[in-house]
Amino acid sequence: MAQKRPPATVDALIVGAGFAGLYMLHCLQARGFSAHVIELADDVGGVWHWNRYPGARCDVPSLEYSYSFSDDLEQEWQWTEHYAGQAEILSYLRHVASRFDLRKDISFSTTVLAATFDESVQRWTVTTDRGDTISAQHCVMATGSLSATRLPDLPGIADFAGEIYHTGAWPHHDVAFSGKRVGIIGTGSSGVQAIPMVARAAGNLTVFQRTPNFVVPAHNGPIAADRRKDWQQNFRDYRARAKQVGTLYEFSATPAFAVSDDVRTSEYRRRWDKGGVNFMHAFSDLMTDRKANETAAAFVRDRIGEIVHDPLVAEQLCPRDYPIGTKRICVGSQYYETYNRDNVTLVNLRETPVTQISVDAISTGAATYPIDVLICATGYDALTGALARIDITGCEGERLADKWAAGPRNYLGLMSAGFPNLFIVTGPGSPSVLVNMVVGIEHHVEWIANCLTDLRDRAAASIVPLPQDEDGWVRHVNDEADKTLFPLANSWYLGANIPGKPRVFLPFVGGIGRYRAICDEAAQSGYAGFAIAPQKPRKDA
Ligand code: NAP
Repeated sequence: MAQKRPPATVDALIVGAGFAGLYMLHCLQARGFSAHVIELADDVGGVWHWNRYPGARCDVPSLEYSYSFSDDLEQEWQWTEHYAGQAEILSYLRHVASRFDLRKDISFSTTVLAATFDESVQRWTVTTDRGDTISAQHCVMATGSLSATRLPDLPGIADFAGEIYHTGAWPHHDVAFSGKRVGIIGTGSSGVQAIPMVARAAGNLTVFQRTPNFVVPAHNGPIAADRRKDWQQNFRDYRARAKQVGTLYEFSATPAFAVSDDVRTSEYRRRWDKGGVNFMHAFSDLMTDRKANETAAAFVRDRIGEIVHDPLVAEQLCPRDYPIGTKRICVGSQYYETYNRDNVTLVNLRETPVTQISVDAISTGAATYPIDVLICATGYDALTGALARIDITGCEGERLADKWAAGPRNYLGLMSAGFPNLFIVTGPGSPSVLVNMVVGIEHHVEWIANCLTDLRDRAAASIVPLPQDEDGWVRHVNDEADKTLFPLANSWYLGANIPGKPRVFLPFVGGIGRYRAICDEAAQSGYAGFAIAPQKPRKDA
């Protein structure tokens, strides 16, 4: 099918047609801007287009992991499950694209190669792999926080001759597991979701685990009729509250040691039985006090010991060297139970690392495991990876990759000094992956759309953050992280999963409510912390 080509000139060029890019396009069109989206995939959806692995679903409740900007959309779309599966979320995004007539302004199957700022005209020149050159006043990177997939650099992996898949780039055809020997590397959120499903379908499954994760049960199911009715009647209140807190968990104001051991354990039990990330909000200090955190970690380890029959396997599954929640907590369905199956083997790579991958097997120091299908649930170059794949050059020829070589630097997570009119949605320095992504996306997109409108009203050519305000924000993001337990884990939040990536805590931990207030204040003050350049008078004026 012939692909729509982008126009030569637009007010705003948007990269990515996931939750962020679609809403950005809708907002800008509604305000009368010309805008166009470039998307690598052949359809909308972003991560939900690519993450089709067995068991893929979102562990934020579907009623909340959805747009809030349209009351009509809110009322007409009926989510079926408490935690929606990938196919349902993708259907939703396709529906949004059709309902708001967005596809006509999206070029699919197109990769943005470079974006270069031309100071003489205060515009971006964007080039693609299809030979397009687009001149845009503004450029919005809606490229996703967890979209740049990463295969493990294990010895011999390139020699493997069987089927090999990354969970974040899953094929669109059915993958048959029946009777096959399947290996899976990685036990983060994606691996935890895939493992039980693959174990049921495969001849046998070998799980290669480097670091065990804390997994709380999902207890997923259909949305109860009374819950749906309550949401439809009160969605405005719920959405307003979500703008302040992200996801509507039961947040506690009580520290863990303010209650007796019995009360604490029964609160963990209640939340465990209810399911989901809500578990991590049982007490107010779980992410700031190591001892408080350990009470929650010990509760989960006890559950692992109860569920997993083989005590040696149970022990291998118990995380012991980082606080619970400092690596993204996983939400699973029958995850630990899966290790009781006869066709599932757990290999602890800490004890016996992979020594070689051959054409048809993975060897550790202790054994060789024949493999027909290898699944890499090995994660992403988070928050900065997708941006790094585009050659972005700002003022005075400075490349963003060079500027960020020692860690990302930006103001409010939204813009980087020296790169005027370049906006980032849910990138580093914003709450992004620490809150409900859709809430963060809607905030950023609306802030950016308001900013572009203000610039148009002032007849301004460009906006760019001031270096000293950017330095202050980078310090603030780090200071906030240092008040928590987050830096104690080797997590992708810190870039620790990518060899050579600078160790910088990437997201802003201060919460979406505070962040929203800071961004609002910046806009209402007439963009304090930013420099705004007027349009140059036309020669013929
Ligand atoms: P991840 O959390 O980064 O997990 C990657 C896994 O692969 C880890 O267990 C890691 O071990 C392992 N690994 C990486 N390189 C390895 C190597 N060379 N050898 C052995 N093991 C290796 O990635 P993910 O599971 O795709 O999840 C990423 C994020 O996406 C999640 O944290 C979450 O925010 C999001 N996500 C969300 C959902 C949802 O339900 N909302 C679902 C899926 C993903 P180490 O821990 O030792 O590095």
